[in-house]
Amino acid sequence: MAKQLLDEMTDDQLHAVEAWIKQKSPGTFLATDDNLMEIVREDQKVLASAGVTYEQIVDRLNHFVNAFKAKAQEAGPQDDLFLAFRCGYDVDSNYHVSAELSLGKEMCPLDDCEGSSVVYRVFNKLTGGEITFPELMPHLVRDHHFFEGNVTYRLDPGDAIRVMRLE
Ligand SMILES: [Zn+2]
Repeated sequence: MAKQLLDEMTDDQLHAVEAWIKQKSPGTFLATDDNLMEIVREDQKVLASAGVTYEQIVDRLNHFVNAFKAKAQEAGPQDDLFLAFRCGYDVDSNYHVSAELSLGKEMCPLDDCEGSSVVYRVFNKLTGGEITFPELMPHLVRDHHFFEGNVTYRLDPGDAIRVMRLE
C-alpha cells in the first residue's frame, strides 16, 4: 500500500483526512478542535529548522524500543511483568527506557495498521528530558509523517529531537 504522507497532501486533502480521523477515532489522534493542516505544517517546520528528517526520528524511536525489548528478553520470564516494564532498563550510557501497558490497542486511522497497547518512555539522564510515545508512533511518523494532534499520546517533534539528541 502506498504511504499516505500528510505533509505532501494539499490543504483540501488534509481537511478531508482530518474529518475522517475525527469521525473514526474521536479524541484519539486529534482533539476535537485540532486543525490537522496547521499541525502538519507546524511539525514540518520544526523538523526543517532542526535539519532532521522523519526517518531519523523513526530510527531513534525504533532503536530505543528494540533496545528495551532486547533487555526484557535478556532478563527472562519475570514474575511481575508490569513492574519490570515500569522499572525499565538502562540503554546506551545515558538513557533509561521503560514501558507501560495502556488500555486497548491503537489502530492507525489511515490504514488500520495495528499497534500494541504499550507506551514507551525514553528518559535522557544527562538532561532530565523525557518523551513518551505509543508503539504505533514509529508507524505514524514513518508512513504518514504524523505525530498526532493535541492529545495524550502526541509526540512533540521538538521534544523528540532534543531528548534523543538528533540536533
Ligand atoms: Zn497507518
